[in-house]
Amino acid sequence: MSVRIDERYCKGCGICVFMCPKKVLEESEALNKKGFAVPKVAHPENCINCHICEQHCPEFAIDVLDEKKAAPSPSAAQKPQAAPKVPTSTREMKTLAPRTILLQGDEAIAEGAIAAGCKFYGGYPITPATEIAEGMSRLLPLNGGKFIQTEDEISAIGAAIGASWAGAKSMTATSGPGFSLMQENIGYAVMTETPCVIVDVQRSGPSTGQATKPAQGDAMQARFGSHGDYEIIALSPSSVQECFDLTIRAFNLSEKYRVPVIILADGEIGHLRESVRIPKKIEILNRRMPEQGISNFFGKPEQGTAAPMPAFGTGHFVHVTGSTHKEDGMRDVTTKEVHERMVKWFCDKINENKDDLVQFEEKFIEDAEILVISYGATARPALGAVQDARKSGMKVGFFRPVTIWPSPEKRLREILAKGKIKKIIVSEMALRGYFPEIERIVAGKCELVHNSKIGGEIHTKDEILTAIKEANK
Ligand code: SF4
Ligand code: SF4
Repeated sequence: MSVRIDERYCKGCGICVFMCPKKVLEESEALNKKGFAVPKVAHPENCINCHICEQHCPEFAIDVLDEKKAAPSPSAAQKPQAAPKVPTSTREMKTLAPRTILLQGDEAIAEGAIAAGCKFYGGYPITPATEIAEGMSRLLPLNGGKFIQTEDEISAIGAAIGASWAGAKSMTATSGPGFSLMQENIGYAVMTETPCVIVDVQRSGPSTGQATKPAQGDAMQARFGSHGDYEIIALSPSSVQECFDLTIRAFNLSEKYRVPVIILADGEIGHLRESVRIPKKIEILNRRMPEQGISNFFGKPEQGTAAPMPAFGTGHFVHVTGSTHKEDGMRDVTTKEVHERMVKWFCDKINENKDDLVQFEEKFIEDAEILVISYGATARPALGAVQDARKSGMKVGFFRPVTIWPSPEKRLREILAKGKIKKIIVSEMALRGYFPEIERIVAGKCELVHNSKIGGEIHTKDEILTAIKEANK
């Protein structure tokens, strides 16, 4: 085995020395540039490949590699242009190696982005999303990508959109106030059919609110935050594993439909630590470039879900504008038919593909008379409360939208059409949140209870169980 400590990131905490069961690592007096004492790999021959040191290093500074099984170095095309002074090939191998690793939700989003082929991140640090920027600032240079810390969130999403048109899969991440600042450019990304991923790790608002505290108040902003007519895709992770998986899905959907895709996480999930299984194979959708000579890069394609997208500098004549434009990108802001055709296409490519987009989890639906709907972090105590209620003989079901937008309207209507559900409880960390959408879908077919909680604390299982008992009376 080869155990390597990247001294640039080590903060000398000694956790690895303490955790190693074979005393492979020892404290040392060698200081890195930041003045931290970097442990030394004193007895590599004793290493048993348990990865405990790697999993517990808070700075992701350790790589444990089986030299015999190590993957080949990335191709020359993938390598960063400026040759780094420290070994860097290990991160590429580590990122893609199947393994189970302890990660924070935000870190899993960064790892998922790299696995999905993200090559650019523009962002401004903001709690509780900062760890995504930190992760990307470390991972991107080691994977042939670029990281820019921008002066604000407007330029962050602007840079992500620009990078996408330069041919790079791109991402930005933020929270409440930053998400508000990004809204105009989300509309620009819709208008220019620009694939990019935007992460909103929701916190309490309005305005700066409770900076580090979780909330779920941005569902409607994710859907309607920009002006004009459009549809959007938003995914909500409920575990750290889903932070990884849904980030990859977000990139794939973004490429498939040429749309901005929002990951609507929350501070609780963003800061939660759990095991994440990095699978052996990850399905990645790459950018579809047009053939030379083709000039219609926008609007409904003859085939497929979006037109192929060129990159600047590849020989295509590319015109990108936020104004109403024809299929070749040229402005036409006066012809009614052009605007109508373009905007309908923005909506159709989402609305006509809901079966492909909508993802949900449901349990105990068959005999349910009460249905608990919850998503993100709140879905976890909600499921626990449903399980406890069923143990007490109550007929309660559980439904979790994973795709928040477009909403799982079709499936919820199917459940309601069976006529068994008498009451629906919506549990979320918001006073408004996602409730209006459930209200719209239910449309008076049964009683609705909004089990909302604000103030920066997630519901306890007992609080949701109390709501279920109340509904069962
Ligand atoms: S756990 Fe990581 S940061 Fe802490 S001393 Fe070891 S290598 Fe350095
Ligand atoms: S992989 Fe396990 S045995 Fe090897 S250095 Fe890390 S903690 Fe020690």
